[in-house]
Amino acid sequence: MPSVAAATLGKEPLPVRKAALRTFRDANGAAVDQVVATYYQAPASYTGEDMLEFGFHGGVAVVERALGALIDLPGLGLAEPGAFTRRAVLAGKLDLLEAEAVADLVEAETEAQRAQALSQLGGGVSQIYDMWRAALVEALSAIEVSVDFPDEGDVGSAPERAAAAPIERLSRDLGTALASARAGLQVRSGTQIAIIGPPNAGKSSFLNALAGRDVAIVTDRPGTTRDVLETRLNLNGHLVRVCDTAGLRETGDEVEAEGVRRAQALAAECDVLVGIYDVGDGPGRGPDFFGLEPDLVLANKIDLLPGTANVSCETFAVSAQTGEGLDAVLAELSKRIEHTAPSQGAAVITRQRHLEAVSAAKSALERAGSGLSRGAPPELVAEDVRQAIRALGSAVGRVDVEDVLGSIFSSFCIGK
Ligand code: GDP
Repeated sequence: MPSVAAATLGKEPLPVRKAALRTFRDANGAAVDQVVATYYQAPASYTGEDMLEFGFHGGVAVVERALGALIDLPGLGLAEPGAFTRRAVLAGKLDLLEAEAVADLVEAETEAQRAQALSQLGGGVSQIYDMWRAALVEALSAIEVSVDFPDEGDVGSAPERAAAAPIERLSRDLGTALASARAGLQVRSGTQIAIIGPPNAGKSSFLNALAGRDVAIVTDRPGTTRDVLETRLNLNGHLVRVCDTAGLRETGDEVEAEGVRRAQALAAECDVLVGIYDVGDGPGRGPDFFGLEPDLVLANKIDLLPGTANVSCETFAVSAQTGEGLDAVLAELSKRIEHTAPSQGAAVITRQRHLEAVSAAKSALERAGSGLSRGAPPELVAEDVRQAIRALGSAVGRVDVEDVLGSIFSSFCIGK
């Protein structure tokens, strides 16, 4: 690194971890820009290696000349997405959970996402996984005593009994973490709200009213929304992904029928289902949601029927056009999202990868627990506990790091 500094900033040595104002020069000695350069000496840097940071003025011409000058130096090239964090992981500066938290923090759009990512970045979540692992390592050594000294009276059975309690406790803790997994995943990737209802009920208008802009096409021609249209919104600090769907109706049109099928599939898997109907649509007939049961029902277009009386108390009377009644709907949606979200920063499972690791650990522990109670050979019980330890270790990146590096860093942005 000192050689890169010498080639671009001159012979005068850079101070360590202090900003220095220098002239950046190309290979011919021509000045390219005035820069603030900061030299981080290994191992006290983000990646654990020597690092040199330049603060250029930016601008197309400066960046082009400066990059050209740097790339011409031996051993230098452009960084791939997540290249710095990958190096930090390989140098043991960050574990996998912390590396993922870097990506989540960079991509955080809402306060809830930021808080969750930051608590994961601080190592708090890794500590929980490590604590789980440590308890299991202890249980494993107790069981291994039984494997090593099988013939020594009841030496085998006592340590095994000692292992049963921590295994059971941990299995319960993992179960609790899995039960709240949906909340952590939901904060990270957003709460999915699907809007369903008959054609022309005002689904697209409602989506536009929520978004505060025109994201969906509004027409009085039924059947215009044929695919699922997703909009991301920040609702009181929580990311929500609101999906407008094709109007639910029997149709001979193949494309529209596929839209209806997709709407039904989405309705089955979303976090909050909002059903909307036109309050003037055949009074007394009530809403028809094709057998689906929305969490929230909106009776829309109340501006056309002032003093609407036939709306039941669970239904929100709204006008997507005038905005009447929408505040109450937003308040109800926020309440539901906050109810499912974890208390800030408490989530230990925020990605599918963590969910799979914890599920695998729990299954292995259940096998170990039932093996112990059946009096199964300690070798087999020990193997199940080892699998659980491995699964938890893979979440943090204590084992099998190389296997997951590719998929984790492919989603990173360049420069991190
Ligand atoms: P979608 O097919 O369910 O998505 O319905 P749209 O949002 O496209 O609306 C269908 C028609 O109803 C359009 O002409 C809208 O302008 C109209 N519309 C939607 N909401 C309201 C409302 O609250 N009041 C009135 N008067 N018209 C509305």
